[in-house]
Amino acid sequence: MRVILANPRGFCAGVRMAIDVVDQVLDLLPGQTIHVFHEIVHNRHVVDRFKGRGVVFVEDVNDVPEGEIVVFSAHGVSPAVRAAAAARKLTAIDATCPLVTKVHAEAIRYARQGYQILLVGHRDHQEIAGTLGEAPDATQVVESPEDIPRLRIDDPDKLVYLTQTTLSTDDAGVIIDALKATFPNLKAPPTEDICYATTNRQHAVRQIAPLCDLVLVVGSRNSSNSVRLTEIAQNVGTPGRLIDDAGELDPAWFKGVETLMLTAGASAPEDLVAEICRWFVDRFGATLHVADVFEESVEFGLPVTLKRLMEAHDVDHRDRRVRVEAPTITAGEYGAAAVALTISAGDADGDAA
Ligand code: SF4
Repeated sequence: MRVILANPRGFCAGVRMAIDVVDQVLDLLPGQTIHVFHEIVHNRHVVDRFKGRGVVFVEDVNDVPEGEIVVFSAHGVSPAVRAAAAARKLTAIDATCPLVTKVHAEAIRYARQGYQILLVGHRDHQEIAGTLGEAPDATQVVESPEDIPRLRIDDPDKLVYLTQTTLSTDDAGVIIDALKATFPNLKAPPTEDICYATTNRQHAVRQIAPLCDLVLVVGSRNSSNSVRLTEIAQNVGTPGRLIDDAGELDPAWFKGVETLMLTAGASAPEDLVAEICRWFVDRFGATLHVADVFEESVEFGLPVTLKRLMEAHDVDHRDRRVRVEAPTITAGEYGAAAVALTISAGDADGDAA
């Protein structure tokens, strides 16, 4: 069996930053209970590891004792949540991904300019709740083309659409085309809202999945971008499975599988991917191949709220950036017999077909 590891996969800069924020706060305040509003990122292992270090996750800021510290998750929060935190005199450390903040800023700006906003995304997702909360009177959520007849539109010439950052580009395209067909003067956001990490991971699946018998995606069931990766695999005709970790692997799934694609959602830690590689190397004598589809080099600065906390504790944050590097495959970590061979996406097209 050969296992083709997609690159890029796993942590994006926003997730890396959010995890870094909680790590930093824990380091700055040893012994103090840190509360995080909502799962810091949508990954069971990341959340459980922080719980193991004493972090308490809440779904209501009113559950945080007055005057304590609360960290807002990478998905962003609505102004109502910020106000509730302020009312409890909480010190809020904001780990919202800057690319989500960008969509919030667009919502605020367009609402001020008198636009109605059609927010394409999943109504029950934390990110949509946050963006919707920026301009609730001006915004309507669109989950599918079936929602379009129910929209209440005042002026079809004063309409803009925005999207959740982690949508399937395929699905979003279908909804946006349907909106444009109904409202020809619909305005688009100045830059794409679906983020670079979502787009790149999906594109890697589109490139590699057709060459494979099965696609495995490492990620949690509530991780939107991870679920979308399995859907993209299925869209190109290759079955996709989403697993949290190696413990869920069932040997029966791999009967007749000669080439397997392995990728990970933007919130899935690489050590889980390595553990799965070890399983394939040990059980099937698999060889590991890395398909470099995109080289990502995105970095974010630390949130201002964290910098203030660091300054208050005399910690120098100058030159601190958050950067994500492509994982390096090492024999020990990924399976003693593993040989990681780098193939370009072009080679993957030719060789595996
Ligand atoms: S998936 Fe995109 S929007 Fe979400 S945290 Fe990562 S970079 Fe930010």
